[in-house]
Amino acid sequence: MDYQGVLTEIAASVKGLVGSGQVADYIPALSSVDPDQFGIAVADVHGEVHGVGDWQVPFSVQSVSKPFALALALAHSGEGIWRRVGREPSGTAFNSLVQLEHEHGVPRNPFINAGALVITDHLVTTTGDAGTAVLDLLRAESGNPHISVDEDVAISELANADRNAALAHLMASYGNMENPVPVVLENYFWQCAVRMSCRDLATAGLFLAREGVRADGSRLLSGSLTKRVNSVMLTCGTYDAAGDFAYRVGLPGKSGVGGGILAVIPNRCALCVWSPGLDARGNSVAGVAALEEFTTLTGWSVF
Ligand code: GLU
Repeated sequence: MDYQGVLTEIAASVKGLVGSGQVADYIPALSSVDPDQFGIAVADVHGEVHGVGDWQVPFSVQSVSKPFALALALAHSGEGIWRRVGREPSGTAFNSLVQLEHEHGVPRNPFINAGALVITDHLVTTTGDAGTAVLDLLRAESGNPHISVDEDVAISELANADRNAALAHLMASYGNMENPVPVVLENYFWQCAVRMSCRDLATAGLFLAREGVRADGSRLLSGSLTKRVNSVMLTCGTYDAAGDFAYRVGLPGKSGVGGGILAVIPNRCALCVWSPGLDARGNSVAGVAALEEFTTLTGWSVF
């Protein structure tokens, strides 16, 4: 596969979309990002990494950290975590409170905020420091020990935490929080505020394309559990546009409000695309278009 040629063609074809959409501004520290940036990287299971555009520029990973947190929780505790969080698409906004009340404090899936807070809570219990556990995994799998947390973003999120705090308190009221809400929020924002490039995220996501095998050859997850993480990414990874993403792209993917999307092609490669302008449902406009173009050009998808 001529990855470099394919990525160059994709960058040219989505050029007109870069800068369109809206940069996330509900986290004030994210609102100043230059919207005219675009990068895409592919890391294949044999260790080749290619990229074009701003593929080496670090950005705020936000919810793209969530599959890594889920993988750690499954690695520590296996299927037991499904007692506290579901695995159905939500059909409501990523920060919605409505469903939680209907479903007695059990969030729909681990990729909406409520579900991610449950996973963070679980990792606080099992590791003592969920934020650091996720950061360590990202550093180890990307091979970049310099990856760090953008403290301005973390502080900005903490200062504007009313909605996430409401979700966590509501779950606590149903007995679905093991640790104090402020501790869980701090760990969650720490994980969301990690800054990484497309190069680093594509490389870090490779274990999802390698049936759970890590960069050092050890195993984080069984093949079966890796399939489950990828399945939840496919059905729940792109907010309430997961159906449209599956239709257009045909891959497991997880997006974040920083404009990044991680996508996985099992046994072939992991991809990361980044462009900060978001559509109405919170997914990068140029990013989704680029992934759609990738699967069209290569003919690779999980279908
Ligand atoms: N830290 C963000 C929040 O909790 C993550 C949102 C996202 O990327 O989906 O609101």
